[in-house]
Amino acid sequence: MGKKSKKTILSKLIKQIKNCKKCNLHKTRTNPVIGFGNLDTRIMICGEAPGREEDLKGFPFTGRAGKLLDRLFVLADLKRENMYIANILKCRPPKNRKPTLKEIRACLPYLKKQIEIINPEKFILLGEVAFKVFFPEKKLKDFRGKLVKKDGKEYFITYHPAAGVRFQKNKRILERDFRKFKFENEKRV
Ligand code: URA
Ligand code: SF4
Repeated sequence: MGKKSKKTILSKLIKQIKNCKKCNLHKTRTNPVIGFGNLDTRIMICGEAPGREEDLKGFPFTGRAGKLLDRLFVLADLKRENMYIANILKCRPPKNRKPTLKEIRACLPYLKKQIEIINPEKFILLGEVAFKVFFPEKKLKDFRGKLVKKDGKEYFITYHPAAGVRFQKNKRILERDFRKFKFENEKRV
């Protein structure tokens, strides 16, 4: 798919999401956070849902977790502008509560469409919510820090950066994981 057509298809999806009322979160959101980045990337980052900052700005990972994520990208030799960053939910759950299964089910077709359009080779899954969407039968603790192949794609699994903002111990683990991702990523090129 050419750059132009990716953009055209994605802009239709953006319109749909802006008008979406498939779950109650549309009532409390300021802006949906659809995703941001390079449509020709090999790597897609998948978070959970917008937080307060993201809801106000309309862009993913612009708050405190985003600042940590940017430092983790440096450790992995990754550049935000070369990747695409998306979330499982496009609208912020009030008070940043966990997404419900119903909300995830309602919103997931949008992420699937984004994946279809962008067609990345690799995903970095941030935290339990993103992990469970791709590996519903598995446990995060068995997969964290690993690069896993599934149906022709590769998934690197780690904690959500918000967990690193909260606890130093998790931040250390995130740092180790992203350094490991750099190693794994370079090994295969
Ligand atoms: N947390 C997420 O999972 N996504 C964002 O975009 C911001 C915070
Ligand atoms: Fe629609 Fe997803 Fe927003 Fe729910 S969270 S209203 S499904 S875009």
